[in-house]
Amino acid sequence: MKINGLKFGVIGGGIGGIAAALALQQRGGQVTVFEQAAELTEVGAGLQISENGMVVLRALNVVGDTPEAGLRSYGTVLRDYRAGRSVTEIPAPLAGPTYYYHRADLLGLLHKAAQRAGIVFRLGVRVAEVLKQPSEVQITLEDGTSLSVDCAIAADGGQSTVRADMNGPEVAQFTHQVAWRATIPWNRQDQKPCAALTMGPGRHVVTYPLRDHTLMNIVAIEERSDWQEEGWRLRGDPEELRARFADFGGLVGEILGQIQEPHIWALFLRPVAEHWQNGRIALLGDAAHPTLPFMAQGACLALEDAWVLARSFDEQSGVSQALSAYETARHRRAQRVVAAAGSNARNFHLRGPMRLAAQAALMAIGPRLSRKYDWIYNYDATA
Ligand SMILES: Cc1cc2nc3c(=O)[nH]c(=O)nc-3n(C[C@H](O)[C@H](O)[C@H](O)COP(=O)(O)OP(=O)(O)OC[C@H]3O[C@@H](n4cnc5c(N)ncnc54)[C@H](O)[C@@H]3O)c2cc1C
Repeated sequence: MKINGLKFGVIGGGIGGIAAALALQQRGGQVTVFEQAAELTEVGAGLQISENGMVVLRALNVVGDTPEAGLRSYGTVLRDYRAGRSVTEIPAPLAGPTYYYHRADLLGLLHKAAQRAGIVFRLGVRVAEVLKQPSEVQITLEDGTSLSVDCAIAADGGQSTVRADMNGPEVAQFTHQVAWRATIPWNRQDQKPCAALTMGPGRHVVTYPLRDHTLMNIVAIEERSDWQEEGWRLRGDPEELRARFADFGGLVGEILGQIQEPHIWALFLRPVAEHWQNGRIALLGDAAHPTLPFMAQGACLALEDAWVLARSFDEQSGVSQALSAYETARHRRAQRVVAAAGSNARNFHLRGPMRLAAQAALMAIGPRLSRKYDWIYNYDATA
Protein backbone atom coordinates (compact mmCIF):
# COMPACT_ATOMS: atom_id res chain seq x y z
CA MET A 1 0.00 0.00 0.00
CA LYS A 2 1.17 3.55 -0.62
CA ILE A 3 1.80 5.36 2.65
CA ASN A 4 1.66 8.68 0.74
CA GLY A 5 -0.88 10.98 2.30
CA LEU A 6 -1.76 8.70 5.25
CA LYS A 7 -1.95 10.60 8.53
CA PHE A 8 -0.17 9.11 11.57
CA GLY A 9 -0.24 10.16 15.21
CA VAL A 10 2.69 8.97 17.33
CA ILE A 11 2.15 9.05 21.08
CA GLY A 12 5.49 9.52 22.84
CA GLY A 13 8.58 11.44 21.81
CA GLY A 14 11.17 8.98 23.15
CA ILE A 15 13.67 7.09 21.01
CA GLY A 16 11.01 4.66 19.74
CA GLY A 17 8.42 7.32 18.94
CA ILE A 18 10.74 9.63 17.02
CA ALA A 19 12.33 6.74 15.12
CA ALA A 20 8.86 5.51 14.10
CA ALA A 21 7.87 9.03 13.04
CA LEU A 22 10.99 9.29 10.89
CA ALA A 23 10.52 5.88 9.28
CA LEU A 24 6.87 6.64 8.42
CA GLN A 25 7.54 10.17 7.17
CA GLN A 26 10.47 8.93 5.06
CA ARG A 27 7.98 6.73 3.18
CA GLY A 28 5.53 9.58 2.59
CA GLY A 29 3.36 9.52 5.74
CA GLN A 30 2.28 12.75 7.44
CA VAL A 31 3.29 12.35 11.05
CA THR A 32 2.53 14.29 14.23
CA VAL A 33 4.31 13.33 17.47
CA PHE A 34 2.54 14.01 20.78
CA GLU A 35 4.81 14.25 23.80
CA GLN A 36 3.65 15.08 27.31
CA ALA A 37 6.96 16.66 28.35
CA ALA A 38 7.37 20.32 27.47
CA GLU A 39 10.85 19.58 26.11
CA LEU A 40 12.41 16.48 24.59
CA THR A 41 14.74 15.38 27.35
CA GLU A 42 16.28 12.21 28.70
CA VAL A 43 17.90 11.64 32.07
CA GLY A 44 21.63 12.22 31.92
CA ALA A 45 22.88 8.72 31.34
CA GLY A 46 24.32 6.56 28.62
CA LEU A 47 22.97 4.08 26.11
CA GLN A 48 24.78 1.36 24.20
CA ILE A 49 23.52 1.06 20.65
CA SER A 50 24.67 -2.15 19.02
CA GLU A 51 24.86 -2.73 15.26
CA ASN A 52 21.24 -3.90 14.98
CA GLY A 53 20.20 -0.45 16.24
CA MET A 54 22.91 1.44 14.34
CA VAL A 55 21.74 0.08 10.95
CA VAL A 56 18.35 1.68 11.58
CA LEU A 57 19.87 5.00 12.70
CA ARG A 58 21.92 5.07 9.48
CA ALA A 59 18.94 4.14 7.29
CA LEU A 60 16.90 6.94 8.91
CA ASN A 61 19.75 9.43 8.19
CA VAL A 62 20.08 10.12 11.92
CA VAL A 63 23.79 9.29 11.83
CA GLY A 64 26.31 8.90 9.04
CA ASP A 65 28.90 6.18 8.50
CA THR A 66 31.10 7.67 11.21
CA PRO A 67 28.45 8.34 13.82
CA GLU A 68 28.80 11.77 15.36
CA ALA A 69 28.33 12.08 19.15
CA GLY A 70 28.76 8.33 19.66
CA LEU A 71 31.90 6.68 21.00
CA ARG A 72 32.93 3.47 19.29
CA SER A 73 33.26 0.51 21.63
CA TYR A 74 35.98 -2.09 21.28
CA GLY A 75 34.26 -4.65 23.50
CA THR A 76 33.43 -5.44 27.10
CA VAL A 77 35.69 -6.48 29.95
CA LEU A 78 34.09 -8.69 32.61
CA ARG A 79 35.60 -8.07 36.04
CA ASP A 80 35.36 -9.53 39.52
CA TYR A 81 34.22 -7.08 42.16
CA ARG A 82 36.82 -7.24 44.92
CA ALA A 83 39.91 -5.84 43.22
CA GLY A 84 38.46 -5.39 39.76
CA ARG A 85 40.40 -8.41 38.46
CA SER A 86 39.70 -9.03 34.75
CA VAL A 87 37.80 -12.31 34.26
CA THR A 88 37.59 -12.17 30.50
CA GLU A 89 37.32 -9.84 27.53
CA ILE A 90 34.48 -10.01 25.06
CA PRO A 91 35.45 -8.48 21.72
CA ALA A 92 33.09 -6.26 19.73
CA PRO A 93 30.42 -8.30 17.95
CA LEU A 94 31.30 -9.47 14.45
CA ALA A 95 28.23 -7.66 13.10
CA GLY A 96 29.89 -4.30 13.82
CA PRO A 97 30.82 -2.04 16.71
CA THR A 98 28.50 -0.85 19.42
CA TYR A 99 28.43 2.92 20.10
CA TYR A 100 28.11 4.63 23.47
CA TYR A 101 25.72 7.59 23.42
CA HIS A 102 24.64 10.10 25.96
CA ARG A 103 20.84 9.69 25.88
CA ALA A 104 20.28 13.41 25.42
CA ASP A 105 22.67 13.42 22.42
CA LEU A 106 20.91 10.52 20.71
CA LEU A 107 17.50 12.04 21.31
CA GLY A 108 18.86 15.35 19.98
CA LEU A 109 20.09 13.68 16.78
CA LEU A 110 16.72 11.97 16.28
CA HIS A 111 14.89 15.24 16.88
CA LYS A 112 17.11 17.13 14.43
CA ALA A 113 16.53 14.50 11.74
CA ALA A 114 12.77 14.65 12.43
CA GLN A 115 12.74 18.43 12.08
CA ARG A 116 14.64 18.17 8.78
CA ALA A 117 12.01 15.69 7.60
CA GLY A 118 9.17 18.09 8.47
CA ILE A 119 7.61 16.02 11.27
CA VAL A 120 5.22 18.03 13.44
CA PHE A 121 5.86 17.94 17.21
CA ARG A 122 3.20 18.78 19.79
CA LEU A 123 5.15 19.11 23.03
CA GLY A 124 3.64 19.52 26.49
CA VAL A 125 0.45 17.71 25.52
CA ARG A 126 -0.69 14.53 27.19
CA VAL A 127 -2.79 12.14 25.16
CA ALA A 128 -5.81 11.09 27.23
CA GLU A 129 -7.50 8.63 24.85
CA VAL A 130 -6.78 6.82 21.61
CA LEU A 131 -9.98 5.45 20.12
CA LYS A 132 -10.27 3.17 17.12
CA GLN A 133 -13.15 4.08 14.76
CA PRO A 134 -14.10 2.04 11.68
CA SER A 135 -11.94 4.06 9.28
CA GLU A 136 -9.81 6.31 11.49
CA VAL A 137 -8.38 6.81 14.97
CA GLN A 138 -9.47 9.59 17.26
CA ILE A 139 -6.73 10.99 19.51
CA THR A 140 -8.03 13.06 22.43
CA LEU A 141 -5.71 15.25 24.42
CA GLU A 142 -6.05 16.00 28.10
CA ASP A 143 -7.24 19.54 27.33
CA GLY A 144 -10.25 17.96 25.60
CA THR A 145 -9.27 18.72 21.98
CA SER A 146 -9.23 15.80 19.60
CA LEU A 147 -8.10 15.04 16.09
CA SER A 148 -8.34 12.17 13.64
CA VAL A 149 -5.56 10.18 12.01
CA ASP A 150 -5.52 7.10 9.80
CA CYS A 151 -3.26 5.19 12.18
CA ALA A 152 -1.86 5.75 15.70
CA ILE A 153 1.44 4.43 17.03
CA ALA A 154 1.68 4.17 20.82
CA ALA A 155 5.32 4.59 21.79
CA ASP A 156 4.31 5.75 25.24
CA GLY A 157 6.83 3.71 27.19
CA GLY A 158 6.76 0.96 29.79
CA GLN A 159 3.66 2.30 31.55
CA SER A 160 1.72 2.68 28.29
CA THR A 161 -1.95 3.37 28.81
CA VAL A 162 -2.70 2.36 25.22
CA ARG A 163 -1.22 -1.06 25.94
CA ALA A 164 -3.55 -1.38 28.92
CA ASP A 165 -6.57 -0.47 26.73
CA MET A 166 -5.55 -3.11 24.19
CA ASN A 167 -4.49 -5.91 26.53
CA GLY A 168 -6.51 -5.29 29.68
CA PRO A 169 -5.16 -4.19 33.07
CA GLU A 170 -1.85 -5.74 34.17
CA VAL A 171 0.11 -5.38 37.37
CA ALA A 172 3.81 -4.73 36.85
CA GLN A 173 6.07 -7.00 38.87
CA PHE A 174 8.92 -5.57 40.92
CA THR A 175 11.95 -7.51 39.66
CA HIS A 176 13.79 -7.08 42.97
CA GLN A 177 16.44 -5.16 41.07
CA VAL A 178 17.23 -1.52 41.61
CA ALA A 179 19.38 0.54 39.22
CA TRP A 180 21.55 3.41 40.40
CA ARG A 181 22.59 5.65 37.51
CA ALA A 182 25.06 8.50 37.30
CA THR A 183 27.66 10.18 35.15
CA ILE A 184 30.86 11.72 36.43
CA PRO A 185 33.40 13.97 34.71
CA TRP A 186 36.19 11.88 33.20
CA ASN A 187 39.40 12.80 31.50
CA ARG A 188 41.24 9.55 30.83
CA GLN A 189 41.55 8.92 27.11
CA ASP A 190 41.50 5.19 26.43
CA GLN A 191 42.81 4.34 23.00
CA LYS A 192 40.14 1.71 22.72
CA PRO A 193 37.08 2.47 24.82
CA CYS A 194 35.43 -0.58 26.36
CA ALA A 195 32.58 -1.18 28.73
CA ALA A 196 33.45 -2.82 32.06
CA LEU A 197 30.93 -5.13 33.68
CA THR A 198 31.98 -5.78 37.26
CA MET A 199 30.16 -8.72 38.85
CA GLY A 200 29.62 -9.20 42.57
CA PRO A 201 27.24 -11.25 44.72
CA GLY A 202 23.73 -9.90 44.12
CA ARG A 203 25.07 -6.83 42.35
CA HIS A 204 26.86 -5.65 39.22
CA VAL A 205 28.18 -2.36 37.89
CA VAL A 206 28.45 -1.34 34.23
CA THR A 207 30.74 1.58 33.32
CA TYR A 208 31.61 3.07 29.95
CA PRO A 209 32.88 6.44 28.70
CA LEU A 210 30.72 9.00 26.89
CA ARG A 211 31.17 12.21 24.89
CA ASP A 212 34.72 11.84 23.68
CA HIS A 213 35.81 10.43 27.07
CA THR A 214 34.74 13.52 29.02
CA LEU A 215 32.10 11.62 31.02
CA MET A 216 31.95 8.18 32.60
CA ASN A 217 28.54 6.50 32.67
CA ILE A 218 27.72 4.25 35.62
CA VAL A 219 24.81 1.85 36.12
CA ALA A 220 24.98 -0.04 39.41
CA ILE A 221 22.38 -2.78 39.85
CA GLU A 222 21.56 -4.40 43.16
CA GLU A 223 19.05 -7.00 44.28
CA ARG A 224 16.61 -5.76 46.90
CA SER A 225 13.69 -7.38 48.58
CA ASP A 226 11.85 -4.21 49.55
CA TRP A 227 9.05 -3.12 47.25
CA GLN A 228 9.35 0.24 45.52
CA GLU A 229 6.72 2.25 43.73
CA GLU A 230 6.74 1.85 39.94
CA GLY A 231 8.37 4.68 38.06
CA TRP A 232 10.41 5.53 41.13
CA ARG A 233 13.09 7.68 39.59
CA LEU A 234 14.55 9.67 42.44
CA ARG A 235 17.73 11.40 43.36
CA GLY A 236 19.62 8.80 45.37
CA ASP A 237 22.02 9.34 48.27
CA PRO A 238 25.63 8.89 47.05
CA GLU A 239 26.75 7.73 50.50
CA GLU A 240 24.11 5.01 50.51
CA LEU A 241 25.25 3.91 47.06
CA ARG A 242 28.86 3.69 48.24
CA ALA A 243 27.81 1.77 51.35
CA ARG A 244 25.85 -0.76 49.30
CA PHE A 245 28.80 -1.33 46.94
CA ALA A 246 31.53 -0.82 49.58
CA ASP A 247 33.24 -4.13 48.77
CA PHE A 248 33.71 -3.20 45.07
CA GLY A 249 37.40 -2.32 44.62
CA GLY A 250 39.72 -1.45 41.73
CA LEU A 251 38.75 1.21 39.20
CA VAL A 252 35.04 0.75 39.78
CA GLY A 253 35.51 1.45 43.50
CA GLU A 254 37.36 4.63 42.52
CA ILE A 255 34.56 5.63 40.13
CA LEU A 256 31.83 5.00 42.71
CA GLY A 257 33.80 7.20 45.13
CA GLN A 258 33.37 10.18 42.77
CA ILE A 259 29.60 10.00 42.26
CA GLN A 260 27.75 13.02 43.60
CA GLU A 261 24.23 12.89 42.13
CA PRO A 262 22.99 9.37 41.47
CA HIS A 263 19.47 8.65 40.29
CA ILE A 264 17.80 5.52 41.54
CA TRP A 265 15.24 3.53 39.64
CA ALA A 266 13.36 0.42 40.75
CA LEU A 267 13.06 -2.01 37.82
CA PHE A 268 9.50 -3.16 37.20
CA LEU A 269 8.51 -5.46 34.39
CA ARG A 270 5.46 -6.44 32.42
CA PRO A 271 5.58 -9.34 29.98
CA VAL A 272 5.82 -8.77 26.23
CA ALA A 273 2.31 -7.62 25.29
CA GLU A 274 0.08 -10.33 23.86
CA HIS A 275 -1.64 -7.96 21.42
CA TRP A 276 0.42 -5.29 19.70
CA GLN A 277 -2.25 -3.84 17.44
CA ASN A 278 -5.97 -3.68 16.83
CA GLY A 279 -6.12 -2.85 13.12
CA ARG A 280 -5.55 0.93 13.44
CA ILE A 281 -3.42 1.38 16.59
CA ALA A 282 -0.05 -0.30 17.20
CA LEU A 283 2.28 -0.50 20.20
CA LEU A 284 6.01 0.11 19.71
CA GLY A 285 9.16 0.02 21.85
CA ASP A 286 8.86 -0.36 25.63
CA ALA A 287 5.07 -0.06 25.33
CA ALA A 288 5.06 -3.43 23.52
CA HIS A 289 8.05 -5.15 25.13
CA PRO A 290 9.54 -3.65 28.27
CA THR A 291 12.84 -5.34 29.05
CA LEU A 292 15.42 -5.46 31.80
CA PRO A 293 18.51 -3.53 30.74
CA PHE A 294 20.89 -6.54 30.99
CA MET A 295 21.34 -7.00 27.25
CA ALA A 296 21.32 -3.23 26.54
CA GLN A 297 18.68 -3.83 23.88
CA GLY A 298 15.51 -1.87 24.82
CA ALA A 299 16.24 1.13 22.61
CA CYS A 300 17.73 -1.08 19.88
CA LEU A 301 14.52 -3.12 19.74
CA ALA A 302 12.48 0.10 19.52
CA LEU A 303 14.60 1.21 16.54
CA GLU A 304 14.09 -2.16 14.83
CA ASP A 305 10.33 -1.93 15.48
CA ALA A 306 10.22 1.51 13.86
CA TRP A 307 11.76 0.34 10.61
CA VAL A 308 9.77 -2.88 10.34
CA LEU A 309 6.51 -1.05 11.09
CA ALA A 310 7.00 1.49 8.29
CA ARG A 311 8.17 -1.15 5.82
CA SER A 312 5.09 -3.26 6.51
CA PHE A 313 3.01 -0.56 4.80
CA ASP A 314 4.97 -1.09 1.53
CA GLU A 315 4.23 -4.76 1.55
CA GLN A 316 0.55 -4.87 2.57
CA SER A 317 -2.72 -3.71 1.04
CA GLY A 318 -4.20 -1.77 3.99
CA VAL A 319 -3.53 -0.30 7.44
CA SER A 320 -4.80 -3.31 9.38
CA GLN A 321 -2.82 -5.75 7.20
CA ALA A 322 0.33 -3.65 7.66
CA LEU A 323 -0.06 -3.55 11.46
CA SER A 324 -0.75 -7.25 11.61
CA ALA A 325 2.36 -8.00 9.50
CA TYR A 326 4.40 -5.75 11.82
CA GLU A 327 3.20 -7.62 14.90
CA THR A 328 3.96 -11.00 13.34
CA ALA A 329 7.43 -9.89 12.25
CA ARG A 330 8.39 -8.51 15.65
CA HIS A 331 6.70 -10.51 18.39
CA ARG A 332 8.97 -13.54 18.59
CA ARG A 333 12.21 -11.62 18.31
CA ALA A 334 11.19 -9.24 21.09
CA GLN A 335 10.29 -12.20 23.30
CA ARG A 336 13.68 -13.86 22.71
CA VAL A 337 15.68 -10.72 23.45
CA VAL A 338 13.65 -9.95 26.59
CA ALA A 339 14.23 -13.52 27.83
CA ALA A 340 18.00 -13.27 27.15
CA ALA A 341 18.15 -10.06 29.21
CA GLY A 342 16.26 -11.74 32.08
CA SER A 343 18.70 -14.65 32.30
CA ASN A 344 21.73 -12.33 32.33
CA ALA A 345 20.54 -10.85 35.64
CA ARG A 346 20.99 -14.26 37.26
CA ASN A 347 24.38 -14.87 35.60
CA PHE A 348 25.88 -11.54 36.71
CA HIS A 349 24.83 -11.87 40.37
CA LEU A 350 26.00 -15.37 41.32
CA ARG A 351 27.29 -15.96 44.83
CA GLY A 352 29.94 -18.18 46.48
CA PRO A 353 31.21 -21.28 44.65
CA MET A 354 28.71 -20.76 41.79
CA ARG A 355 30.34 -17.41 41.07
CA LEU A 356 33.84 -18.88 40.93
CA ALA A 357 32.71 -21.78 38.74
CA ALA A 358 30.95 -19.38 36.38
CA GLN A 359 34.07 -17.21 36.20
CA ALA A 360 36.22 -20.21 35.31
CA ALA A 361 33.78 -21.04 32.49
CA LEU A 362 33.80 -17.43 31.32
CA MET A 363 37.61 -17.42 31.19
CA ALA A 364 37.51 -20.47 28.97
CA ILE A 365 34.92 -19.20 26.50
CA GLY A 366 35.25 -15.40 26.97
CA PRO A 367 36.41 -14.36 23.50
CA ARG A 368 33.69 -16.51 21.94
CA LEU A 369 31.00 -15.10 24.21
CA SER A 370 29.85 -12.37 21.86
CA ARG A 371 29.12 -15.05 19.22
CA LYS A 372 26.43 -16.39 21.54
CA TYR A 373 24.47 -13.24 20.80
CA ASP A 374 25.22 -12.99 17.08
CA TRP A 375 21.51 -13.58 16.47
CA ILE A 376 20.82 -10.28 18.25
CA TYR A 377 23.53 -8.13 16.67
CA ASN A 378 23.39 -9.58 13.13
CA TYR A 379 19.71 -8.79 12.74
CA ASP A 380 19.34 -6.13 10.05
CA ALA A 381 15.79 -4.77 10.09
CA THR A 382 16.59 -2.70 6.99
CA ALA A 383 17.80 -5.58 4.83
C1 LIG B 1 19.21 1.46 33.51
C2 LIG B 1 18.84 1.31 32.06
C3 LIG B 1 19.83 1.18 31.09
C4 LIG B 1 19.49 0.98 29.74
N1 LIG B 1 20.48 0.84 28.82
C5 LIG B 1 20.15 0.59 27.53
C6 LIG B 1 21.18 0.43 26.55
O1 LIG B 1 22.37 0.53 26.85
N2 LIG B 1 20.81 0.17 25.25
C7 LIG B 1 19.50 0.08 24.88
O2 LIG B 1 19.21 -0.18 23.70
N3 LIG B 1 18.50 0.24 25.79
C8 LIG B 1 18.79 0.51 27.09
N4 LIG B 1 17.80 0.69 28.00
C9 LIG B 1 16.40 0.64 27.56
C10 LIG B 1 15.94 1.92 26.87
O3 LIG B 1 16.22 3.05 27.69
C11 LIG B 1 14.43 1.87 26.58
O4 LIG B 1 14.09 0.61 26.07
C12 LIG B 1 14.04 2.92 25.53
O5 LIG B 1 14.40 4.20 25.98
C13 LIG B 1 12.53 2.85 25.27
O6 LIG B 1 12.17 3.88 24.39
P1 LIG B 1 10.63 4.16 24.11
O7 LIG B 1 10.61 5.28 23.12
O8 LIG B 1 9.91 2.90 23.76
O9 LIG B 1 10.00 4.62 25.51
P2 LIG B 1 10.34 5.90 26.43
O10 LIG B 1 11.75 6.31 26.28
O11 LIG B 1 9.84 5.55 27.78
O12 LIG B 1 9.44 7.07 25.81
C14 LIG B 1 8.05 7.14 26.02
C15 LIG B 1 7.66 8.61 25.85
O13 LIG B 1 6.23 8.69 25.83
C16 LIG B 1 5.83 9.84 26.56
N5 LIG B 1 4.44 9.61 26.98
C17 LIG B 1 3.98 8.60 27.77
N6 LIG B 1 2.65 8.68 27.90
C18 LIG B 1 2.25 9.75 27.15
C19 LIG B 1 0.97 10.33 26.87
N7 LIG B 1 -0.16 9.84 27.37
N8 LIG B 1 0.92 11.43 26.07
C20 LIG B 1 2.07 11.97 25.53
N9 LIG B 1 3.30 11.44 25.77
C21 LIG B 1 3.39 10.35 26.56
C22 LIG B 1 6.84 9.90 27.71
O14 LIG B 1 6.92 11.20 28.28
C23 LIG B 1 8.13 9.50 27.00
O15 LIG B 1 8.83 10.61 26.47
C24 LIG B 1 18.11 0.91 29.36
C25 LIG B 1 17.11 1.07 30.32
C26 LIG B 1 17.46 1.27 31.67
C27 LIG B 1 16.36 1.41 32.69
